[in-house]
Amino acid sequence: APLLIMRAVGKTFSNGVTALDRVDLTLREGDFLSLLGPSGCGKSTALRIVAGLSSPTTGVLDWRGAPMGKTDIGFVFQEPTLMPWASVFDNVWLPLRLKGVSRREATPAIAELLERVHLTGFENAVPRELSGGMKMRVSIARGLVTRPRVLLMDEPFAALDEITRFKLNNDLLELWQDQRFTVVFVTHSVFESVFLSNRIVVMAARPGRVFEEVDVDVPYPRN
Ligand code: ADP
Ligand code: ADP
Repeated sequence: APLLIMRAVGKTFSNGVTALDRVDLTLREGDFLSLLGPSGCGKSTALRIVAGLSSPTTGVLDWRGAPMGKTDIGFVFQEPTLMPWASVFDNVWLPLRLKGVSRREATPAIAELLERVHLTGFENAVPRELSGGMKMRVSIARGLVTRPRVLLMDEPFAALDEITRFKLNNDLLELWQDQRFTVVFVTHSVFESVFLSNRIVVMAARPGRVFEEVDVDVPYPRN
C-alpha cells in the first residue's frame, strides 16, 4: 500500500537553483527504494523533503495512513556524526533517551540491534577506536533503535572501501528483510541500488527530474 505519494514536487532555492522539477514518486510500505543519479541531480533535496527537513516550493506530499511523527523516521547520513566522547551503547541509546527511555529499559533492544550489526562486545568502545565501517554500523543501529517506520539513508556507504561497503550492504539487506521497515536510499552506485532495492527511481542530471522508475526482480528472497 502507498505510504507516501509525492505529486509534482518542485524545489527552487532562494539563489534561483532548481533542484527538483515536477517530481512524482510513490513510496510503498515495505519498499526499499533507491534514488539513483549523478551528483547534483537533486537526490539529497528530495530526501530532505521526504524527511520534512525542507519544504517543497511546489507540489504536495501526501502521507497515507497514520500521520508521521518525528520518531517514525530514522536517519543515516554519510558522516556517522556520532558523539565522540560517548560509548557505542550511549550513541545508540540517544534517540531513546530523548524519548525518556532509561538505560535499563533500552538495554535489551540495543543489545539485539548491536548483535544484528555485528558490534556485540564493542558496547563500551568510543568512536575513535572504531573503523569507518564500524562507525557506520553504530549509525545504522542508532537510526533503527526507535523502530521507525521509515529509514532515510543519504549515501551512507560512499566513503567506505569496497569490501566494507559490500558487507554493510549484506547486513542492511538482512535487517530490512527481517524487520520490514521502509527505506529511501540515496546513492550514485548502480550496483548498490540493484543489489539492495526493489524499486529504483533514476534521476536525471538536469533539471532535477525523474528519468525512469524501475521495479527490480532479484533471484533471492525479499520479505
Ligand atoms: P530554502 O531556505 O532556500 O528553502 P532549505 O531550507 O531547504 O532552503 O535549506 C537551506 C539550507 O541549505 C541552509 O542551511 C544552507 O546553508 C544550506 N545550503 C545552501 N547552499 C547549499 C548547497 N549548494 N548545497 C547544499 N546545502 C546548501
Ligand atoms: P544530489 O544529492 O543529487 O547530489 P542535491 O539535492 O544535493 O543533489 O543538489 C541538487 C542541486 O541543488 C545542486 O545544484 C545543489 O548545488 C543545489 N542545492 C542543494 N541544496 C541547496 C541549497 N540549500 N541552496 C541552494 N542550492 C542548493
